[in-house]
Amino acid sequence: MNAAVLHAAKTITVEARSVPELKPGMVLLRVRRAGICGSDLHYFEHGHCAAFVPTRPFILGHEFTADVAAVADGVESVKVGARVTANPARSCGFCGYCKAGRPNLCRNIIMLGSASTTPPTDGAFAELVAVRADQCHALPPDMDDGLGAMMEPFAVALHAVKRAGAVSGKRVLVAGGGPIGLLVAMTARTFGAAPVVLSDIVASRRETALRIGADGALDPSARNWAEQVREIAGDGFDIVFEASGARPALRQAFDLVRPGGTIVQIGTLGTEDVPLPANLLMNREIHYIGSMRYGDVFDEAIRLVAAQRIDLRPLLTAVLPFADAGEAMRQAGDKNQALKVQIQISKEESK
Ligand SMILES: [Zn+2]
Ligand SMILES: [Zn+2]
Repeated sequence: MNAAVLHAAKTITVEARSVPELKPGMVLLRVRRAGICGSDLHYFEHGHCAAFVPTRPFILGHEFTADVAAVADGVESVKVGARVTANPARSCGFCGYCKAGRPNLCRNIIMLGSASTTPPTDGAFAELVAVRADQCHALPPDMDDGLGAMMEPFAVALHAVKRAGAVSGKRVLVAGGGPIGLLVAMTARTFGAAPVVLSDIVASRRETALRIGADGALDPSARNWAEQVREIAGDGFDIVFEASGARPALRQAFDLVRPGGTIVQIGTLGTEDVPLPANLLMNREIHYIGSMRYGDVFDEAIRLVAAQRIDLRPLLTAVLPFADAGEAMRQAGDKNQALKVQIQISKEESK
């Protein structure tokens, strides 16, 4: 099979690789369409993603739509020919976290297209990829491959909004207008938050935020920034989602959340520890909580999109052929132009 292999920072080549092994309980998926994630870009640009350093060349990609090509003996839940997306994080299913319904905290997770394991685990920028049967989620026939490949980032946003608790009627700020920040803003809006405001230093991203239904878009580098916030949110926002992964944005979140409010950390902040205003956290009783990928929200994500409660299409900015995987990574890295860039893996026309 062909696969786009990351050899070093900025070096991806499409080359022949052996077909993944079909172990017991697993299914082999023929990838149709795959999206480029911020973490893929970290690997591409720096050769590693925060503390995850690959020990050999490997295949990126974990957001995708695929057809089931083969199933191991005894697998009943998934049928050959079905069109699916997959939860790329395979948790063990047996530990206390898995049993408590928090599989994203499982200490034995194997993540597709990631160097969180040694050796790294190959991902979906390949014609074939193997996952455990229960990682598959069937896609409705009228959901196209592009949307199917966006269920994974949408699941990240869905989980983050759920971590904040009920958002209905709450004043929400999303710091960072990349795909995840935009998805969080759209999800909070779908769940009844008002107003939903997004902040980003990149003008084109603020424009996109308004286009996808945000009630306001703020430039955190503007001089009258604090006044603008006071006008919109008075004492501060009820919930701030930190989706930029920028240290100044995190610091600012503590000034922007109202006393008793909640900050949800979604962005990855590099490898070094970040100083926090712990006194503010204490005397304003701020809740500062983390959100890591997703739990079991894929079916819910698929249902919300299929029922048109949320339209993810405006986020898909480009689709490139498989042979141009390197160019697709470069385009995805251009924050002024790109939101979600996808790679057309199968030769078959996408539905
Ligand atoms: Zn992703
Ligand atoms: Zn587990």
